[in-house]
Amino acid sequence: MMNMKEKIREIVLSHGADLCGCANIDRFTGAPEGFHPAGIFSECKSVISFAVALPKGLTKVPPRLIYGHYNSYACPNVDAIAFRAAKTFENLFSCFAVPLPCDGPYEYWDDEEMTGRGLVSMKHIAVQAGLGTLGKSALLLNERYGSMLTLGAILTDLNLPSDSPANSICLDDCKKCVTSCPVGAINNGAVNQKLCRLNTYNKTARGFNTVDCNRCRTVCPMRFGATALKA
Ligand code: SF4
Ligand code: SF4
Repeated sequence: MMNMKEKIREIVLSHGADLCGCANIDRFTGAPEGFHPAGIFSECKSVISFAVALPKGLTKVPPRLIYGHYNSYACPNVDAIAFRAAKTFENLFSCFAVPLPCDGPYEYWDDEEMTGRGLVSMKHIAVQAGLGTLGKSALLLNERYGSMLTLGAILTDLNLPSDSPANSICLDDCKKCVTSCPVGAINNGAVNQKLCRLNTYNKTARGFNTVDCNRCRTVCPMRFGATALKA
């Protein structure tokens, strides 16, 4: 018979996610002050992390319009999965479940440095839940889906066991993401948000939002996962 964690994974996948994992709250000891899951929901005992992969074809077109549009479109889709899955958990397991916004809104913003910080770090949660590890690009890399992922999370008071951590697939002798960034924004596994934002986000004459760079994603030999590299 399927245990509760497997049932939860099945629910999240059935709502449209490609990956789902679980991290018990004990995995978040040492999370930065103000960004701990229990700081949002004090009864939180586990965090469900999930991800939706972008179509690989979006790496084959210029990022400005089509990739930019669907990269944004992924966020409300991830929010919808979190919302529906949270309600399903509550109905089936008599628990409380808090869906977290995929991107915004959040409070922390350093105007000078153009640097924001989400309510929690979706990437940190995904690593703790075994979905992947962070590459030198600071992007989450998953064995099967590579770096083309949008991340979501749900907090719950269900006490669930953590999934095993993933093995890193970032290549030791590779620095392509670092050397391909046109503004040198990637250093020591972190992205300077100001340099990246000024280079990347813009508008057309008509006022449509554009994304003028996604090189750190598209140059990565692991962009479609380790399995694709072997194929
Ligand atoms: S999106 Fe472009 S500018 Fe931003 S970190 Fe990646 S390569 Fe650099
Ligand atoms: S481009 Fe190379 S160094 Fe950067 S994340 Fe991908 S594998 Fe790692």
